Amino acid sequence: QEDLFKNVVSHAKEYGFIFPSSEVYDGLSAVYDYAQNGVELKKNIREYWWKAMVQMHENIVGLDAAILMHPTTWKASGHVDAFNDPLIDNKDSKKRYRADVLIEDYAEKINQKAEKEIEKARARFGEAFNEEEFVTTNARVMEYKAKNREILERMGRSLGNEDLADVKALIEELEIADPETGSRNWTDVKQFNLMFGTKLGASAENAMDLYLRPETAQGIFVNFANVQKSGRMKIPFGIAQTGKAFRNEIVARQFIFRMREFEQMEMQFFVRPGEEMKWYEYWKTTRLNWHLSLGLGRENYRFHDHEKLAHYANAAADIEFNFPFGFKELEGIHSRTDFDLKAHEQFSGRKLQYFDAELNQNYTPYVVETSVGLDRMFLAVFSNSLKEETLEDGSTRTVLQLPSVLAPTKAAVLPLVKKDGLPEIAREIIEDLKWDFNMAYDEKDAVGRRYRRQDALGTPFCITVDHQTLEDKTVTIRHRDSMKQDRVAISELKGIIESEVSM
Ligand code: ATP
Repeated sequence: QEDLFKNVVSHAKEYGFIFPSSEVYDGLSAVYDYAQNGVELKKNIREYWWKAMVQMHENIVGLDAAILMHPTTWKASGHVDAFNDPLIDNKDSKKRYRADVLIEDYAEKINQKAEKEIEKARARFGEAFNEEEFVTTNARVMEYKAKNREILERMGRSLGNEDLADVKALIEELEIADPETGSRNWTDVKQFNLMFGTKLGASAENAMDLYLRPETAQGIFVNFANVQKSGRMKIPFGIAQTGKAFRNEIVARQFIFRMREFEQMEMQFFVRPGEEMKWYEYWKTTRLNWHLSLGLGRENYRFHDHEKLAHYANAAADIEFNFPFGFKELEGIHSRTDFDLKAHEQFSGRKLQYFDAELNQNYTPYVVETSVGLDRMFLAVFSNSLKEETLEDGSTRTVLQLPSVLAPTKAAVLPLVKKDGLPEIAREIIEDLKWDFNMAYDEKDAVGRRYRRQDALGTPFCITVDHQTLEDKTVTIRHRDSMKQDRVAISELKGIIESEVSM
């Protein structure tokens, strides 16, 4: 599993999917760039989501709100108080939650260390099992695990009313150093502020303090009345949005799983008060089905229903995915009550209500939200698709078995040789198909190597132009997963590709 994760990171880099940000300067922590193939895969995931949410639902419309918002937005939403100075005020659930993350991170490191010990022991024992050595190693493992358990148990009991200072104190008391750095100094948690600040205005005295949005949802809430009126929307209805969000995460790690700049795909569904649980269940099912439609395997998904709820929620669940480092949150489905609309009403002094003609009544709608990280979706799809296969002849191949609808390039056209007019025919095929599909051309190296390269890029089809093409206008089409090749007429290509890659 650890190896798989390493392969994912290096494959993403080698094949032009993801690079560390500003790598010439040695990168920027937890910030990444999507390269030529990554940007296509990411765009296709976004479109797949948008189509399912907006195009397929008559009562859901889109929005593209600005990243910069009036600073009062974040007072109303609770972010300013909740995410600031965690050591001063300890009553907020979001802070407890951050403590949770810290503990979880810590426990995971200890676990990883324990697992490494076990691995080492296994490698060392091999056939000649040495009992004494095993016991020593085992004792060390047990020690790590016991400490791990103790932290979790104690934090589990105390998280209700403790804060990060207690986490720090606890860690000091247990005298555990960070297994990665050896450091016993966890004071840096004191400094963190989850939101990135910036300034609007040129001169220092007139500048206004702003934040980069830590979630896209608030752009939807503040536009609720605008969209409802201009779109003549009737409850229940939804507003969907994709876009960047920024969080100064204290434990940013695991590649694109937890980034400081990331993209969310969120939808806020406005419903009658009292009907929110029905819609909460509806969206849980609908969203899980969307994930399953990609074919990554039912066994890789599970729900995690929250017991501890954020201040704004009356029900919440995560859809968790089996990432290379275990089951982790991929998407959140939250019943947010009327918390956000009421808060914006209070802070802005504007009415954010809805007149329900059927009930002949004004009310503040309740909200059920679905929120999925685009980058986490990318990681889920990418890591699940990366396979190392042993072929019949004993050789191996690396293949990225992406769902065809998401593949960056749908087909590559390969002239068998660089002469006899074959490249020209290959170009003609591309000219014809590029209106409908992302196409690639490759004439370098032997055709077998070109197939392998396309396999590693996740391209579902390779079309090979050979000498027979000159005679009868047929080509071979090779399928990525089965490696099966069929001889087909050039005129049939469009239909064959379309049947597999259309959303
Ligand atoms: P986590 O528990 O992993 O910190 P969260 O509960 O804070 O996530 P939400 O605020 O519910 O996350 O955000 C919704 C979705 O946005 C998450 O399910 C996740 O897919 C994505 N997301 C949140 N934080 C990050 C991040 N730092 N990097 C990448 N994706 C993120």
